[in-house]
Amino acid sequence: MIISEKLKIANEVVMYKMVTKTSCKYCNFIKGNSSLVFDKFIDETTNFVVVPSMGSLVPGWQLICPKKHYLNMTMLGQNDKEEFNALLMRRVIATRELYKKQVIGFEHGAVTDNTLIGCGVDQAHVHVVPVEFDLLDSVQRI
Ligand SMILES: [Zn+2]
Ligand SMILES: [Zn+2]
Repeated sequence: MIISEKLKIANEVVMYKMVTKTSCKYCNFIKGNSSLVFDKFIDETTNFVVVPSMGSLVPGWQLICPKKHYLNMTMLGQNDKEEFNALLMRRVIATRELYKKQVIGFEHGAVTDNTLIGCGVDQAHVHVVPVEFDLLDSVQRI
């Protein structure tokens, strides 16, 4: 392959990723470009927002999303991680008190763009969910 063909392909990849990022559903609502009830912030810090989870299976299911377009939470910088941990604790305590249930947090994000593996969303987010059961106890009984 000649160099100009490689450059052409590389440019197409960059353009594709730019298009993908500008059409990211999460980036769109984080910028305030959505009036959907599921895109309304229920909590916010400098670098994160919290929204209700669309299609949640139980009341109180919410998502913590970084405002920057990270693919998954491993890409957060150290300051972002500290801010996230404080926000996660705040959401867990508030949700536990409101629903009188245990609360779990988890991520099942993508490791590459445009894959159906993970949550089907190319933006980092953590699920915070009130549950009726003790997760550790339930897993140990399997
Ligand atoms: Zn995004
Ligand atoms: Zn998810």
